[in-house]
Amino acid sequence: MASQGPRAPLEFGGPLGAAALMLLLPATMFHLLLVARSGPARLLGPPPYLPGLEELWSPRALLLWFAWLGLQAALYLLPAHKVAEGQELKDKSRLQYPINGFQALVLTALLLGLGVLAGLPLDALPEMLLPLAFAATLIAFIFSLLLYLKSQVAPASALAPGGNSGNPIYDFFMGRELNPRIHFLDFKYFCELRPGLIGWVLINLALLMQEAELRGSPSLAMWLVNGFQLLYVGDALWYEEAVLTTMDITHDGFGFMLVFGDLAWVPFTYSLQAQFLLHHPQALGLPMASAICLINAVGYYIFRGANSQKNTFRKNPSDPRVADLKTISTATGRQLLVSGWWGMVRHPNYLGDLIMALAWSLPCGASHLLPYFYLLYFTALLVHREARDERQCLQKYGLAWREYCQCVPYRIVPYIY
Ligand code: NDP
Repeated sequence: MASQGPRAPLEFGGPLGAAALMLLLPATMFHLLLVARSGPARLLGPPPYLPGLEELWSPRALLLWFAWLGLQAALYLLPAHKVAEGQELKDKSRLQYPINGFQALVLTALLLGLGVLAGLPLDALPEMLLPLAFAATLIAFIFSLLLYLKSQVAPASALAPGGNSGNPIYDFFMGRELNPRIHFLDFKYFCELRPGLIGWVLINLALLMQEAELRGSPSLAMWLVNGFQLLYVGDALWYEEAVLTTMDITHDGFGFMLVFGDLAWVPFTYSLQAQFLLHHPQALGLPMASAICLINAVGYYIFRGANSQKNTFRKNPSDPRVADLKTISTATGRQLLVSGWWGMVRHPNYLGDLIMALAWSLPCGASHLLPYFYLLYFTALLVHREARDERQCLQKYGLAWREYCQCVPYRIVPYIY
């Protein structure tokens, strides 16, 4: 067994919090799936009914999941136009990652297009959401267990800072190993961007097709939700290399939190607006639709501008696009941006992401709280994530980080938070 490295402070309330989240997250996901299709669609009420095992368990859904994971793994292993290096690890090595996520999205779309032409019943997918979500949850538990067992034979240098507390429940949840992989197949990198994210747009598309079948054509609201979320997923895959500097890849272990998040939570709860619209059609006029498009465009502009500015700067601080920005030097030799997007608030990328989250909910009208679940949950997630990141940056950069906080006092929303 690998020896334990230095202990990081426990997050999410320690083992008890981790155990509670392992029950709460799947329960919330099933609650949302059930409520979205019910008449009243009450987010805060009880679920309309409790499904029996026969409604949840379906060998066909499990097979579909394996086929989907197999297809995405095959596309991941196809030759990539670029192979990127990750951040330096504890043992001073760098891992290699294929940059072919966008190619995987396009090939998936082509294969599915051919499949639909050949009679693949994609519009049957919405009816299978419950068993598919159940299969994804089973896979997440079993996969996390295998990852936990694999981590027992990993060298200490391969462990994540936060996932080796010694408490099996907490470590199972947080993930012990930082970058579990078999040869070139890096499980965390693969799951972060492929099966769940592409699965999300696939579910959205299936809901759009079912709406077209039910009502003659997809509604404007459904088009907007599909378009905005496809842009988000396409962007994540187009700028795939940027994920290599995110907290998920550089800091968090690969355990139940990320496995469940990537494979189950993202596709089944992020598609909530489209699920809601299928069962609760909303009339949307052109002026309102244009205003919502503008909000999404503003959010995307901030999100993309901030993320690209930081990535360009981290790759090459002398790049002409960022060379004129003001910086603070830190004892580690790295610098912090203190003007441009990162001089406006300390997490401008989160601000852009939240504005887009609002634009995804607005097409669903104001009659129900349910489609705003994503905005509420995402605000909580980003506030918590921002606090985690601040703690880590304070540890990394010490006084320089304090100086940055003085120059840029607001965290996410200027003059508010
Ligand atoms: P960030 O991309 O915000 O990265 C934070 C890191 O950036 C810090 O740890 C620090 O790392 C560096 N940094 C912070 N301030 C500065 C500065 N002033 N100048 C230079 N570098 C700085 O973190 P995330 O991984 O949380 O987010 C990535 C994107 O993913 C965001 O757009 C976020 O909104 C999105 N996201 C989306 C989710 C979803 O479910 N839809 C979930 C989570 C995130 P260092 O100094 O070591 O480089």
